[in-house]
Amino acid sequence: MKTGLYTHIPFCRSKCSYCAFYSVSGRENDYRDSYLRALLQEADYFKKRYSPNRPIEINTWYVGGGTPSLLPVPFYAGLYRHLSDSMDFSRVREITLEANPEHLTLAYLRDLYLYTPVRRLSIGVQSFRDEDLQRLNRHHSGKEALRAVENARKAGFENITVDLIYGLRDKEEASTWKENLKTLQSLSLPHFSAYALTVEPNTVLFRKLAQGKIGIADEALLEREYFLLQEFASENGYEAYEISNYAKEGAYSVHNRNYWRNVPYIGLGASAHSYMENERHWNVSDVRAYMKDAVEGKQFERLTEQDSYHEYIMTALRTMWGVEKEKLEAFSPRLQSEFHQRAERQAQLGNLERKGDAWVIPSSRRLLTDGIAAEFF
Ligand code: SF4
Repeated sequence: MKTGLYTHIPFCRSKCSYCAFYSVSGRENDYRDSYLRALLQEADYFKKRYSPNRPIEINTWYVGGGTPSLLPVPFYAGLYRHLSDSMDFSRVREITLEANPEHLTLAYLRDLYLYTPVRRLSIGVQSFRDEDLQRLNRHHSGKEALRAVENARKAGFENITVDLIYGLRDKEEASTWKENLKTLQSLSLPHFSAYALTVEPNTVLFRKLAQGKIGIADEALLEREYFLLQEFASENGYEAYEISNYAKEGAYSVHNRNYWRNVPYIGLGASAHSYMENERHWNVSDVRAYMKDAVEGKQFERLTEQDSYHEYIMTALRTMWGVEKEKLEAFSPRLQSEFHQRAERQAQLGNLERKGDAWVIPSSRRLLTDGIAAEFF
């Protein structure tokens, strides 16, 4: 059985203004060794539970955060070596590390390439403009973001993706989105992700907005920036293969694609989630509790067929492959017929269309994906 592996590194230098993810600041050096031990304890738990007699075969590995690049390369070399005791990486298709531009010196990247199996880098650029980066409370500059990509290439990495955010300004004249796309074009990367800025409660951004100190794009501007993005993608040979993900020549993220296709995955680390044999596990969002015992605080639920069906529809509709006939046929006849009834209704409204054996959301309606998916609940 092929399985994805996710490892969460919950350390950040400080909090970005828009971020609501769980992370702790300034403790990575104190916690590093104990955190490594806890990750291995959890890996051992999964092996005993799901594959006691042989190593779990890993198809993809994604190291995300937090800020994984805050930790030194030997941490990842050691983690890989130890994980290889309980997991089989011999047929792994993709290993990705998330990184922030300010950490990507040539020395760090050369070591990463030399001493670990990481071959794909996901760089948290967010914007190439310093004024945006300050507003987001990021620690890098636009120049550092460009240098990070250049260093990565020099170190041997070809599979590089960057994250960008749009909707950062409340006025079209002040928007930096066009310039960001122009810079992105000059890099000619195989893949990028672009997210609409969302305002989560309990963030600095939320407070500043409530106090009227800053403004961000309203729905109309967000839509215009989204269409600019679609135009950019098609003119530059990128497929919009998921609502936020764009790839050239099939350079899709294999790891993410597996999530959308219901492939099981193990998530190690504080606040990480796992999905194995119709069971969902999730860990405490508390590094100290996780390091004390990585297994004790685990929460767990068994998914009903209805839960798995909803999860599949919700994620599949976000992608260009849509709801595939073969995947749908894995569910009961009742759920299949429920799906078809609702799909026909959405097709009449122009929200869904047939593409071969699949149902997909047409690209002009992709921005409405969440609302359309909700019609299937
Ligand atoms: S680096 Fe990433 S995880 Fe950390 S605070 Fe910023 S956005 Fe959140």
